[in-house]
Amino acid sequence: YSPSEPPKIHRLDESVVNRIAAGEVIQRPVSAVKELVENSLDAHSTSVNVVVKDGGLKLIQVSDDGHGIRLEDLPILCERHTTSKLTNYEDLQSIKSMGFRGEALASMTYVGHVTVTTITPGKLHDGVMEDEPKPCAAVKGTQIMVENLFYNMIARRKTFQNSSDDYSKIVDLLSRFAIHHINVSFSCRKHGASRADVHSVTTSSRLDSIKSVYGVSVALNLMKIEIPDSDPSSSVFEMDGLISNSNYVAKKTTMVLFINDRLVECTALKRAIEIVYAATLPKASKPFIYMSIVLPLEHVDVNVHPTKREVSLLNQEFIINMIQSAVESKLRNSNEARTFQEQT
Ligand code: ADP
Ligand code: MG
Repeated sequence: YSPSEPPKIHRLDESVVNRIAAGEVIQRPVSAVKELVENSLDAHSTSVNVVVKDGGLKLIQVSDDGHGIRLEDLPILCERHTTSKLTNYEDLQSIKSMGFRGEALASMTYVGHVTVTTITPGKLHDGVMEDEPKPCAAVKGTQIMVENLFYNMIARRKTFQNSSDDYSKIVDLLSRFAIHHINVSFSCRKHGASRADVHSVTTSSRLDSIKSVYGVSVALNLMKIEIPDSDPSSSVFEMDGLISNSNYVAKKTTMVLFINDRLVECTALKRAIEIVYAATLPKASKPFIYMSIVLPLEHVDVNVHPTKREVSLLNQEFIINMIQSAVESKLRNSNEARTFQEQT
């Protein structure tokens, strides 16, 4: 190499490009589980069951009872940018499904071994990527199995050898889905275990769902909070949720946030709520928050993060301020009620 001579630029092989991109979409075992479960939800499933071996490195299996996949689509199912959910770029503005890029399944085939078993009403078949689809006995829905995740990414695999680590993240993920989608039953277990670590049944009460997933001690200490659509000052959004009271004491904040039914993170909102708790209930300053925000679809940009974990919102500051004052007045009222109770 001589400094006077620039290095030659060449085009990367498609397989290299795909594997690099896949590493961004599927960052860790729990990201694969999230993509698979979101596919199950997009397929209108009412039951989603997850089995995990070795923290997801050996096996991730997601079975659902959704609408299944057409036989004729199986050959392109695991190619990059193949989707049944999006056609035009403009559709992104009004997208309701959680998937839209057609990258998740493809990505998994670049960093693991994928087997798909699916049945659409009246048809039975099994789609193994390399082979022709073969008929097999299956119940309604789809089962996707990812084996040997990151087998071809040595460094990444090593990072996750401490397998209990991602399993707890997977349990946490399923718990979050379960308390939002209360009309879907979820389970999550370790391969070979008879007991499930998450087991939710369909219910009409969010509080019951939280009770069964997070335990009675959490559920007992929650208060309902909402900013209804009818509130004129909130014309751009609606919020409802359950937030912990002064009796709930924990080491860290749990914030389960859904925006337009998408499980997302919003650090700014979480901080804003923590600040209110610290100022109002200093002894219970690490709250449990479940919150569902509904916004006009065109006010949310869902395409800002490769894992779709963060979304960006129009009027974010306004929304955060509104929620902050709603939380504050809820906490103040409950605090006053408590003081009053203690005095009488
Ligand atoms: P995306 O979800 O962005 O469309 P994916 O790679 O996750 O991309 O999935 C590709 C396509 O495979 C989906 O658009 C959907 O049609 C189909 N699919 C994947 N998982 C399931 C499932 N569990 N049930 C039914 N269809 C599925
Ligand atoms: Mg998807």
